[in-house]
Amino acid sequence: VAKDLGRNRYQFYSPEMNERLQQHLSLEADLRRAIEGNQLFLAYQPQFDFTQRRVIGLEALARWQHPTLGLVLPEQFIPMAEENGLIEPIGAWVLETACRQQAAWVAEGLTDGSMSVNVSLQQLRQPDFIELVTDTLSRSGLPARHLELELTESVVMQELDRVMQTLETLPSSAVRLSIDDFGTGYSNLSHLKKLPIHRLKIDHSLIRGLPLDQENAAIAGAIISMSKRLGFEVLAEGVETQEQASYLHSLECDAGQGYLFAGPMSAQDCTDFLRDQAGARPVPS
Ligand code: C2E
Ligand code: MG
Ligand code: MG
Ligand code: MG
Repeated sequence: VAKDLGRNRYQFYSPEMNERLQQHLSLEADLRRAIEGNQLFLAYQPQFDFTQRRVIGLEALARWQHPTLGLVLPEQFIPMAEENGLIEPIGAWVLETACRQQAAWVAEGLTDGSMSVNVSLQQLRQPDFIELVTDTLSRSGLPARHLELELTESVVMQELDRVMQTLETLPSSAVRLSIDDFGTGYSNLSHLKKLPIHRLKIDHSLIRGLPLDQENAAIAGAIISMSKRLGFEVLAEGVETQEQASYLHSLECDAGQGYLFAGPMSAQDCTDFLRDQAGARPVPS
C-alpha cells in the first residue's frame, strides 16, 4: 500500500504533470483576456452545392491569435471554454461577429445563403439563449433565414426537449438548424423526424476513404437516403477529393464542405473569394 501511495504521489507531483497544469492554467487566464484583447477572429469556410457548384452557405469557425503562441485552433480552446464558462461570452461574440459579417455580404449581393454558427451545449442551456439570438439578429440587421445554428448530434440527442422548445421560439422559426458531425453518435433515428431541422452534416470521418471504404460508403449512403425521405438537406463534411465529390453527388447528397472546394479563410480572403465566385457564377443549365 505504501508503495502504491508513493507511486501515486510521485505521479501526482511529477514535474511533467505540473508543467502541463501550469500551461493549462496560464492558457485559461490568457483566454479570459482574449476577447477584450481582440485576439479572437473568425475564419469562414464555404459550403458548395454539388449540382450547381455554387456557394450556398458559409460556416464561421473560431480562431485565436495568441500573442506568443501564435494561432490556436478551436479544438484547443473551445473545450476549455466549455468547462470554465467562457463559452458564453465567446459564443455571443462569435454569433454577433458572424451575423454582422453575413449582413454585410448579403447587402453587397455576395451571398444569398446562410451563415452557420456552431453552438455548444452550455450555450443552449442558457435561459436567455433565444433572446440572445433574437437580439443579435435585430442588432446586426440579418434576416433570420440567413442564420443557421449547428448543434452536434450528441447535443441534440442529450437535450432533445430543450432543442425542440428552443427552436419553436426562435424568430418566426426562420432560423435554420443543422445537426453537425452526424453519424458519430448513436441517434435514435425515430427522434429525428420530430425535430424542426433543415440539414444533416455528415461527419468527415465517414467521408474519408469514400468511395472505396465499403463500410463508410454504406453508412453515408444510408444517411443520405434517410435524410431525403425525412425531407432534410444533407451536406458532407471534409470533402477533399474529386472522387468523393462525384460519389456523393451520385448518391444525391446536396452539398459539400472541404478542402476540395475551399478551406476556412479570413474575412478579407472570403470577400475576395465570394467576389470571384459572383463574377464566375455558372449559369445553371
Ligand atoms: P466542425 O463544426 O465540424 O467544423 C469543421 C472542421 O473541419 C473545421 O475545423 C474545419 O476547418 C475542418 N475542415 C474543413 N474542411 C476540411 C477538410 O476537407 N478536411 C478535414 N480533415 N477537415 C476539414 P476547425 O475550424 O478546427 O473547428 C473544429 C471544431 O471546433 C468545429 O468542428 C466545431 O465543433 C468547433 N468550433 C469551431 N468554432 C466554434 C465556435 O465558434 N463555437 C463552438 N461552440 N465550437 C466551434
Ligand atoms: Mg460545425
Ligand atoms: Mg462537423
Ligand atoms: Mg467537429
